Amino acid sequence: MIEFYFGCMGSSKSKQLIESYRIQSKLKDIKILTCLAHFDESYPIDGCIKTRAHDDVIIQKFVLTPQSNLDNLIGYDVIFIDEAHFLTPDCVRFLASLDSDIRCFGLLTAFNNEIFAGSQALLFYADKLIRLESKCEYCNRQATHNIRLVNGERVFSGEQFILKTTETITYKAVCRDCFEKGLK
Ligand SMILES: [Zn+2]
Repeated sequence: MIEFYFGCMGSSKSKQLIESYRIQSKLKDIKILTCLAHFDESYPIDGCIKTRAHDDVIIQKFVLTPQSNLDNLIGYDVIFIDEAHFLTPDCVRFLASLDSDIRCFGLLTAFNNEIFAGSQALLFYADKLIRLESKCEYCNRQATHNIRLVNGERVFSGEQFILKTTETITYKAVCRDCFEKGLK
């Protein structure tokens, strides 16, 4: 079973993942795998990344790239996937074939308003969809879109995935109005 928790930037996706992980990790005899989806096969070198939660709990995440061996995902009761929008549709299809309880957390659309391929596959395969809400950073209405800023200026085009850059890339969650106003 797949649950897909989706929302804009700042919708507490990682916080939800950590809370859910914490509840599961207290249960006995539960095999848990925590993953971080990533689009770059070379990230990171050793295949794992450690995330420190607010109360110093360290969660080790297996980095799942398009080149990962999907057999590594077999045999778990619960699988958490952070940044799930970076999953490939093939990986989502594979996850849907497992008996595990799979909880994916990610964005729906990129800064150019295009849906991520992984998120599109998740919308199709997930048994349960949970929208996490956040507020527009400009007017406080419900955020529905994400914008990209390069060195503080909004941009409207560019690669969906940025590998390496010397510029400062940031993202903000905005409502539909603020997203469209910026397009004029
Ligand atoms: Zn707004």
